[in-house]
Amino acid sequence: EAQLEPRPIRRLQESVINRIAAGEIIHRPASALKELLENCLDAGATSIRVTLKDGGMKLLQIQDNGCGIKKSDLPILAHRFTTSKLSKFSDLSHITTYGFRGEALASISHIANLTVVTKTKKDACAWKAIYVDGEMVPTPKGSSADSKPCAGNDGTTVTVENLFYNVPARLSALRSSSEEYARILDVVTKYAIHNAGVSFLCKKVGTSTPDLSTPSSTTKQAVRLLYGQGVAKDLLSVEVSPPKAKKRKRDADDSGPGTSKPNEDGSWIAQAHFTNANYHSKKTVFLLFINNRLVESSRIKKAIEACYTGVLPKGTSPFIYLSIQLDPTTVDVNVHPTKREVHFLEEEEITESIADAIQAKLAQSGERTFEYQT
Ligand code: ADP
Ligand code: MG
Repeated sequence: EAQLEPRPIRRLQESVINRIAAGEIIHRPASALKELLENCLDAGATSIRVTLKDGGMKLLQIQDNGCGIKKSDLPILAHRFTTSKLSKFSDLSHITTYGFRGEALASISHIANLTVVTKTKKDACAWKAIYVDGEMVPTPKGSSADSKPCAGNDGTTVTVENLFYNVPARLSALRSSSEEYARILDVVTKYAIHNAGVSFLCKKVGTSTPDLSTPSSTTKQAVRLLYGQGVAKDLLSVEVSPPKAKKRKRDADDSGPGTSKPNEDGSWIAQAHFTNANYHSKKTVFLLFINNRLVESSRIKKAIEACYTGVLPKGTSPFIYLSIQLDPTTVDVNVHPTKREVHFLEEEEITESIADAIQAKLAQSGERTFEYQT
């Protein structure tokens, strides 16, 4: 009988712990990009430019024209749990910004080369800082570990190079650079729809034609530009709020996350843009934002797809963009490290109300088409 000698238990090196933790938050270039995009939006950017090399694995650069970062904050920027968005635990319940844990930049600095160039309106020049394992490092080597003055516009440019260079397991789990690029483009596209008032650009390094470029526009215009006239011309929209709550009228085609603030009285409001019976594609395109965060929910997706039974030919699918604003106290944003899986109270009831409204609108528009035809 084989006897296994117990091996001594030892604490992992700090750097290894940090790398593992970072890999839990940043799975692939697209998840790094999502965090960085949200930071730009949190900073009030109206223009966001993304540049990539090798699907973001070699280079992922995001330039915004937001509020910038104070030079005095740069030394702790990539420390874990340093944030300008949350100061006490109770703030978590009414958080309205995307970020709140101060983990994204820290994580990235543990698994990639991170450079930040930033300029606030008050600064006379931009400041550049390089981070390794959470700390600002001297550049060039041997000089003092301080940010360096440089040329730059108002706003922030974050450059992430060689993602996962020190996490071979993550690196080998990645797909081809074209697949990673497709994922990134998908994330940028969805944020560009949800933030139609912000202009977005996404391109590969060394190419002059961007793969995505949107002006500041309305939701419908953004849908037309990014998903095509076929989707845009058959787009219906509806705004849904709880049956009993006071109705706060909003323009359903309003854009920008700042325009629809989460309600703070336990009520909710949803805006849906969805194709009518004239449009169908092979696979459902489903964009779901809850409190301005891109999330996934197969339950909500199924419930809304079901509205199209009998509306669309069997085996075909619609385009749906749904944005739900919930009382922040009813959403558990802290549930998953990647913050993708969001849970909220009365999820079933809310989903049902939205599905009912969509179904009613589809029925209505179906009748109208019918009237035209006779
Ligand atoms: P969080 O977003 O959870 O606060 P991050 O690690 O993503 O944590 O960012 C840490 C802090 O760095 C933010 O709270 C913010 O103050 C600042 N920051 C990051 N990116 C930007 C940006 N693009 N523009 C302005 N400030 C930024
Ligand atoms: Mg953040």
